[in-house]
Amino acid sequence: MKAIRVGAFGGPEVLKLEDVPDPRPGTGEVLIRVKAAGVNPFDTYMRAGAYGARNPTLPYTPGSDAAGVVESAGPGVELKAGERIYTAGTITGAYAELALCKRAQVHPLPARVTFAQGAGVYVPYATAYRALFQLARAQSGETALVHGASGGVGLAAVQLARAAGLTVVGTAGSEEGLQLVRQEGAHHALNHKAADYRKRILDLTGGAGVDVIVEMVAHENLAHDLQLLAHRGRVVVVGSRGRIEIDPRDVMSREAAVLGVLLWRVPEGEAVEIHAALQAGLAGGTLRPVVAAELPLASAPEAHRRIAAGGARGKIVLVP
Ligand code: NAP
Repeated sequence: MKAIRVGAFGGPEVLKLEDVPDPRPGTGEVLIRVKAAGVNPFDTYMRAGAYGARNPTLPYTPGSDAAGVVESAGPGVELKAGERIYTAGTITGAYAELALCKRAQVHPLPARVTFAQGAGVYVPYATAYRALFQLARAQSGETALVHGASGGVGLAAVQLARAAGLTVVGTAGSEEGLQLVRQEGAHHALNHKAADYRKRILDLTGGAGVDVIVEMVAHENLAHDLQLLAHRGRVVVVGSRGRIEIDPRDVMSREAAVLGVLLWRVPEGEAVEIHAALQAGLAGGTLRPVVAAELPLASAPEAHRRIAAGGARGKIVLVP
């Protein structure tokens, strides 16, 4: 099969399309014919060798999020060839024509969801669901600020929060991004590059502040986030690329909480809850992954460059 291989950590150019042997499913394993593979920011950190203890052993094939059909199932696996699925992690990597998975990594893909959309389910939606509901305990009637709403996790958080009955404020850094954030369900969309947008968030809540913040860029925003929270507000750090100074009094005076999410730490039982909720939302149409671009597998370097460049408008997916 063809697969993207990384033989040495480095820039996007280390992503090379190569011929490798087809994987074969062992006991409890499933082989997936990949129709689309999602590209996530962590793929770029890993490719650069900047993912700490989770850096893979070289050479490797990147990618955790694939959508496709079952090619074959190993002993002890009940899935049938041709069943539509999305993956939550793989054994051999998603940027490939075939991906070997553990049975528990494979989930049914509802018929109304395209393969390109299915490649944008796992990392974005599972992270957003965990941040909003398992960690921040967001409730209907509350207000959520999705800080960085035009990207993969952000659009997932907007759709999930909207469907759960929250008032949703989303931010983006471009006019196109703002339009998309509104289209996908935010009641209010604000530009995080505008000088007065934080004041406008407070004004939208009559000065009370927001109950929940899902934060994609904590190293820039966390100190200000704490001043945007309502009494007993919760901010969940999803993304951060550096250090920041905060005033603990902002937390104390609001009896607020700062939480962190790490998708790789989700316990098995809580993962079952996440995928059940996502499948219901995908099947019912409240969750609609937004595909920004479909590129051929060989264009993995271009996909990584686009992620690093910003200006997100949903997911970039690779098509074998
Ligand atoms: P993405 O698709 O690249 O989206 C990034 C988002 O951040 C865009 O909406 C972007 O808006 C916005 N942004 C840029 N500058 C901002 C600022 N100063 N303030 C607020 N928002 C800003 O990335 P993603 O897939 O959604 O992932 C977001 C982050 O979460 C990444 O750092 C990723 O590594 C991390 N993540 C963590 C976990 C976890 O388990 N903790 C899981 C998934 C992702 P514009 O480009 O329009 O400015």
